Amino acid sequence: MIPYFHRAQFLISAGKAKQFPVTGMEVAFAGRSNAGKSSAINTLCDNKGLARSSKTPGRTQLVNFFGLGEGLRVTDLPGYGYAQVSDSMREHWAELLGDYFRSRQSLRGLLLVVDIRRKITDYDRQMMAFAEAVGLPVHILLTKADKLKRGQAATAMLEVRKELGDRATVQQFSALN
Ligand code: GDP
Repeated sequence: MIPYFHRAQFLISAGKAKQFPVTGMEVAFAGRSNAGKSSAINTLCDNKGLARSSKTPGRTQLVNFFGLGEGLRVTDLPGYGYAQVSDSMREHWAELLGDYFRSRQSLRGLLLVVDIRRKITDYDRQMMAFAEAVGLPVHILLTKADKLKRGQAATAMLEVRKELGDRATVQQFSALN
């Protein structure tokens, strides 16, 4: 268990940069929709219902903040890559996330949740570019690792490491085990 994470509580859903909390420190979780981001947050916080609050209709396109106490936060960024999304929604997404990365003095790192079977997508690359533009470290959770055999999972991880070099640290992850 990561210290503090078990204390996570839903704080606020924000659709505009001016609603973002201003002080403290946070790490942000991003990922393609269905990659397993909510499951990863819930597992790491040991709270099965936690990120469900960010999946309620109307909140999936918002930035959701969870407080860990003492000014620490986990941020759940809107999932990206829905097949049926209008251009205006996609623009809103890019603007909101761009604002998020540019305005967050409190941001300390990006956790990118990637389905180990799908590898890195263009959306993931865009998130990495946002993080790199402001000098943030990126750590990749290659999740659903339980869905592959051990050898296949190791190969997938090697491929991602080869693509990214020292731009990000990478680990396998499973919300099940
Ligand atoms: P999100 O849209 O990125 O928040 O994705 P979810 O966390 O809702 O997960 C999408 C689907 O993948 C759900 O059916 C989860 O139960 C499943 N899932 C998520 N993580 C894992 C995992 O580590 N292993 C397996 N086997 N299934 C997972």
